[in-house]
This record gives sequence, C-alpha cells and structure tokens, in this order.
Amino acid sequence: MNHKTILPPPAVIGVFGSGQLGRMLALAARRMGYRIHTFSPERHSPTGQIADREVCAAYDDLDAVRDFVRQVAVVTFEFENVAAEVAQVAAEEGVPVRPGGHVLHTTQQRLREKRFLAAAGLPVTPFADVTTEAELSAAIAQIGAPAVLKTAAFGYDGKGQARIDDATQALTAWEAIGRQEAILESFVDFERELSVVAARGLDGSFAHWGVIENAHRHHILDLSTAPAAVDPRVADAAVALARSVLAQLDVVGVLCVEMFLDHRGRLLINELAPRPHNSGHLTIEASATSQFEQQARAICGLPLGSTEMLRPAAMANLLGDLWEQGEPNWAAALAVSGVKLHLYGKQAPRGGRKMGHLTALAGTIEDARAKVVQARAALSEASAI
Ligand code: AMP
Repeated sequence: MNHKTILPPPAVIGVFGSGQLGRMLALAARRMGYRIHTFSPERHSPTGQIADREVCAAYDDLDAVRDFVRQVAVVTFEFENVAAEVAQVAAEEGVPVRPGGHVLHTTQQRLREKRFLAAAGLPVTPFADVTTEAELSAAIAQIGAPAVLKTAAFGYDGKGQARIDDATQALTAWEAIGRQEAILESFVDFERELSVVAARGLDGSFAHWGVIENAHRHHILDLSTAPAAVDPRVADAAVALARSVLAQLDVVGVLCVEMFLDHRGRLLINELAPRPHNSGHLTIEASATSQFEQQARAICGLPLGSTEMLRPAAMANLLGDLWEQGEPNWAAALAVSGVKLHLYGKQAPRGGRKMGHLTALAGTIEDARAKVVQARAALSEASAI
C-alpha cells in the first residue's frame, strides 16, 4: 500500500450529510482519534452533535462546499443525493472522495444502478424505464402485473413508490409519484429480504459481515437479524454478488447490497447503498469491527478490520411513532438483558422518522430477535415514575 494514500489520525474526515449514519461514523472515527467535519443545511444535527465542526449551508452553495473541502483530508457521504457537484469540487481541490464520484453517480439513480447491475451480469428484478405515457403502457405490457413503479431519482424508505396490481392502475400509480421519470419493476414474491454489507480497501482488499436478514414495515426497515438463517450456499452466493459489485464499481469504503431471495432460491439485487446501512447497525455490538469503523479505515487507506461475528444479533428500528403517547419507557427496554440503546439526537419525533434503534445479542438469532422485540414493546409500557 502506498503510504502517501494513508490518512492516519488525527486527519479530518469530511462528511456530506448529517444524519445518524454520519453520527455513528463520527463516534467510531473519533474513538480512533480522527476529527470529523460535517456539511448539511441542518443545525445541531445528529452528526453535528458529535463532530468537531458542523457547517450549515445548502448543498448547492459551491463556495461553502469548496471552503469545507479545503479543510478536510478525505470526503465521504452519508447522503448520496448531493454527490456530483461536490465530487467535482473535491477533485478540483485535490481532496479524495471515497467512495469515488463514479460510485455515487451510478447508485444515485435507480435506472442507472439497474442498468449497471444488468450490464455487469448481476441478477436484478426485471425492469423497464418510463418517461412518457406511451413508455408506461409498453413497460406494463412487457413486465406485467403485479409490479412496482418507483421514481428513478432515489426516494428512500419506500418514498416515491406505487404498487400496481393490474395494468389498469398503471396511470394512477404514475400520477401518484408525480409523473416523474420512473422505473417499473416486476413485483417479487420474495421468501426473504437479505443484505450483505461489505467493505473494500484502497488496496482492493474485501471484507463482509455475512448475510443479514431484514423485515420491512411500510417499506421501512423494521428488524434485522444476523447471521441470516439461509442455506450456506445461498449465503456464499450472496457474498459473491456483493464482492462482484464492490469490485466492478471499484468501491473504496462500505457498500450495502440489498437483495430478495425468491421461492426458487434465487437472489435478485434490489438496490445498492454506497455507505454503511441500517441493516449493518448491529455490527456495532455483534462484530469485531463495526461497519462504521470499517468505513473510517477504508476511506483513510488503513487495513480493513476483522469482521468476525461475536454473537448472533438482532436490531429493531425506533421510529418517531413510538413517541405518540409521550416519551418511551427507556428503563423498561433496557431492563431486558443484552439490549443496547442507540438514539440519534433528533429533535422532532415525526411518524416514520428513524429516531434510534435497539440491538440485542444472544446465543441464537431467535433469542436475539425475541429480546429486541420484547425490549421495543416495553418502550410503550407505562413508566413507573
Ligand atoms: P426500495 O426503496 O427499493 O428498497 O424498497 C423498499 C421495500 O419495498 C423493499 O425492501 C421491499 O420490501 C419492497 N419492494 C421494493 N421493490 C420491490 C419489488 N420489486 N418487489 C417486491 N417488493 C419490493
């Protein structure tokens, strides 16, 4: 490895975006002696509360972007929708962007991402693009129903998606997502949803945390368990897909591959996230090296850490809805042994907003899942005080 590419602590890591992913990166990186600057339009953000410096400016304020970039050793993203111009400014300033602008460009838009995956020979759900009403009719004729219409520009957590149960609903669905450029995908009657969170170093080294099983509610991740209870051949195939994606995209950093496992045992890639992922939060407690420490290591050119899984684990998201009846009963949740609490420091607990998560470790994945579900249910118990 070229020593000039290594950025040892106390180098400054610059993060675009300021949510919980940046916050958990900041916690891991600061423990290693790195400094963190964060850039977003928000003040007192989840990342900003932990960072050494919080810059509040619009993402398209390129003077502010340039000023920010000049003061950091490496740029990374926790919110990839802002990547193109930022990557350009960073390149002009000679500051590395990891993962690189090309990764962000590909994964920023569903159609580009799907086309890349298909061209790379990787398995994806059948899809067609839709920019006009005529294309919509052609797409529905080609893909059939049931199908899912998604905006091409990334929504997140199921935003910008509409299900189509029969062809006559196609136009209504397109109207529901604002007649924007879209992608029509056939609906996968999946057996399970899986993800592989993986990392690739500057020297091409590869590390992964095995296969994680995910359950969604209303399109938002609800519960993750690891290791996923799948046939070892499926697990090997899932990891091989992730390895191929990271290598073909020439990723430096962490990337998550979300997949469906269908009833015939086939894996289909649903989407890529070029950063740590909600399903990998359980690596903080369950693994020798968390996805966040690994991100810091990878983007700073350090050797990747061991991803050995210490114990089976489960993670449950805490959405803003939990606050509807007042402050959740933290003491009751934490009375469940083996349960850890993570709160992201967000001010307003809106419905559907990710406010934090719980992780439980146990001897088996079933026990870990039972504990985390029990702890989350306990949050709604009346408080003793
Ligand atoms: P996405 O925003 O693409 O990750 O979608 C969020 C969730 O919606 C996924 O995790 C699935 O639970 C569901 N979903 C998305 N696309 C499909 C599909 N083609 N077939 C079945 N379920 C889907």
